[in-house]
Amino acid sequence: MLIRGGKRLGRRQKAEAGPGITVEISEGKSTMRIAAGLIFAGAVSLCLSGAAWSQTPAAKGTATSPAAAAPAPAPAAPPAPAKAACANPDALGIGRVVEIDTTGGPGFGFEHFKQLDFLRDKEVVLTFDDGPWPVNTPSVLKSLADECTTGIFFIIGKHATYYPEILKQVAAAGHTVGSHTWSHATLTNKKLTEDQRKEEIEKGFSAVKWALGGASPSPFFRFPALQHPPEMVTYLGTRNIAMFSCDLDSFDFKARNAQQVIDVTMNKLDKLGKGIILMHDFHKHTAEALPALLRKLKAGGYKVVQMKAKAPVQTLPQYDEMIVKDVKLPTVSSRPVSSVVQTISE
Ligand SMILES: [Zn+2]
Repeated sequence: MLIRGGKRLGRRQKAEAGPGITVEISEGKSTMRIAAGLIFAGAVSLCLSGAAWSQTPAAKGTATSPAAAAPAPAPAAPPAPAKAACANPDALGIGRVVEIDTTGGPGFGFEHFKQLDFLRDKEVVLTFDDGPWPVNTPSVLKSLADECTTGIFFIIGKHATYYPEILKQVAAAGHTVGSHTWSHATLTNKKLTEDQRKEEIEKGFSAVKWALGGASPSPFFRFPALQHPPEMVTYLGTRNIAMFSCDLDSFDFKARNAQQVIDVTMNKLDKLGKGIILMHDFHKHTAEALPALLRKLKAGGYKVVQMKAKAPVQTLPQYDEMIVKDVKLPTVSSRPVSSVVQTISE
């Protein structure tokens, strides 16, 4: 269990940390205590996320050309996480697995949340935003599989309804799935009412659940553009949803090519020595950069930490219903009207 990198994990240890977070570590002999709480560190971010802002779906098989809305298939059975052994003896693998108790809405990522410094030197968490998206997300999945490693995918709800089959591949590969709002709205936008902000958050989770055939994702959330309105930070706390900023931004959405993604990420990482890395499976250059970037992490002695939630998110029924209403029913027949309906009497 919890092994995808071909590494043997030792006994599991668990540390209760009062009213906050329990981190359970599947690894050798480490026990970690983490105090509860988070610090909201202002609205200005050095760590701006790339913007996908609710794109229309691309034509199947291309990553760039917009097309008409994809038909929405009916939800199917939840995927079973893959447990295949790693075939690559030199894989990056998974160094450690931590379990997160999201009670009270802990915050991760030093760009905004300073309390929970749980990564050890040379440890990284790979995070991918704005998917699922054709071509690029499957490419990222392949690169991670080739290195028997894993990441957290922060999903845009609308994109999940466009491409549920791709999202199912993410979950089936055993990666952690969180949410990144319904439509990538910046929640600090003053034009949005409080109800609209909550709807962006809640519908995002409900859409991911719908696309996964009813399997709830992790209660892990990332604000679009890393803009954290204080009242929504508080709200997520009441919903027991963890918030993810980042420690270092790959700035892949600005990169002119794959090499730039690699260079920016490795330069920042070598300075910091560890961290939660923000990338976008939505972007072509990221997908192209990932095989070499993962090799560089391995060569640099970095180890990937898998973050798993102790319990799935509890979606709210009214938002689950909204998604069902929003998503068009699958087409049962593509025959033209004239071949189905014929006037026989008039
Ligand atoms: Zn984003």
